[in-house]
Amino acid sequence: MPAIRIWLKNPLAVFTANALDARGGLVVENDVIVELLAAGQSPALPCDQVFDAREHVLLPGLINTHHHFYQTLTRAWAPVVNQPLFPWLKTLYPVWARLTPAKLALASKVALTELLLSGCTTAADHHYLFPEGLENAIDVQVDSVRELGMRAMLTRGSMSLGEADGGLPPQQTVQQGQVILEDSQRLIDRYHERGDGAQIQIALAPCSPFSVTTEIMAESAALAETLDVRLHTHLAETLDEEDFCLQRFGLRTVDYLDSVGWLGPRTWLAHGIHFNEQEIARLGEAGTGICHCPSSNMRLASGICPTLELIAAGAPVGLGVDGSASNDASNMMLEAKQALYLQRLRYGAEKITPELALGWATRGSAKLLGRSDIGELALGKQADLALFKLDELRFSGSHDPLSALLLCGADRADRVMIGGKWRVVDGQVEGLDLKGLIADHRQAAEELIRG
Ligand SMILES: [Zn+2]
Repeated sequence: MPAIRIWLKNPLAVFTANALDARGGLVVENDVIVELLAAGQSPALPCDQVFDAREHVLLPGLINTHHHFYQTLTRAWAPVVNQPLFPWLKTLYPVWARLTPAKLALASKVALTELLLSGCTTAADHHYLFPEGLENAIDVQVDSVRELGMRAMLTRGSMSLGEADGGLPPQQTVQQGQVILEDSQRLIDRYHERGDGAQIQIALAPCSPFSVTTEIMAESAALAETLDVRLHTHLAETLDEEDFCLQRFGLRTVDYLDSVGWLGPRTWLAHGIHFNEQEIARLGEAGTGICHCPSSNMRLASGICPTLELIAAGAPVGLGVDGSASNDASNMMLEAKQALYLQRLRYGAEKITPELALGWATRGSAKLLGRSDIGELALGKQADLALFKLDELRFSGSHDPLSALLLCGADRADRVMIGGKWRVVDGQVEGLDLKGLIADHRQAAEELIRG
């Protein structure tokens, strides 16, 4: 196959690491970025296509590192709109237990489409519900990801500690440890791709301290080590969870994490809010990643992640929209804006810049997923790009294009490229019947609630 070279010429603004001058644009050869051009510079070799980007702000594709795709079916559901985490979960578990493969496929497609339209090119999902009939949940999600041509880190979640044994979830939603581990191994063998350009990756993800046994935490860590895959879970999201850990294990959350062999660079945690100084130092030393989920944390009033202390200690920080029942949007640009504003409340306006928030949504998130081939506009990186236009009413009168994206509230990309292929053109997902998808998804959501 001859190489195809595309020049994305003279963008309005470019988000590069270290504010490198790339006003001349960049050249993509097949699936990889091969040149970054300074203002006025032309490509070294002739290009097959030239895309005039003078109206576009060019970002690396955004990377979402925590979600529960299936929850798009229970957004803004009246009984839980005003509840904090534990009652919110207990009300929703029985509804979620009725999930079917067809409904999960629709929910995943809606979540992925929403992410893609917001400029997201790689999405992690944390799926931990495998009721009878939905044993192949991750296989269903793989199909949805492939259909949209995105990249994904699908985490094989699990719940093994039911109400009968002192856990939070109802018994019909939990699985035996052996079943979980065998399915984890099967999924990794079947789908996990390694190396640059990987489209599908699998990680192991027991749900949270209050829904899994100590054994499955320890066994998942051992399996992840053997098979060289990543580990993910919810941790230190609420004070209720901290109380649960103290009562059940006699340990604070980070001590518990350490006791089951999870405190290391292979792990990334969703939320990471309630840490003391020593715990932050330990997480940093271990290189354990933290996925900041600002919208969810505000929606459930869980608290504010200590991002700057974690980064200073050496812990990578990325962003996640979290499940659509606690956000209730799957929009990575809006999430970056929420991160900017929530973190300003904690640290002040001078310390939290739009560039920092966009860095969490790109480079930071890539680190959490253990990937060095995405998250940056640089030579040799995958051509995963998000292009935004500033021609809507909300941007009129704005001056600095990068800041305008967050401050004026950009929520939809005009174009998105993944691995050198356009997946969004003129704000539309290529080859997708969006109206049909919404109609089917709405119906599935009503059926799920009705039971
Ligand atoms: Zn979550």
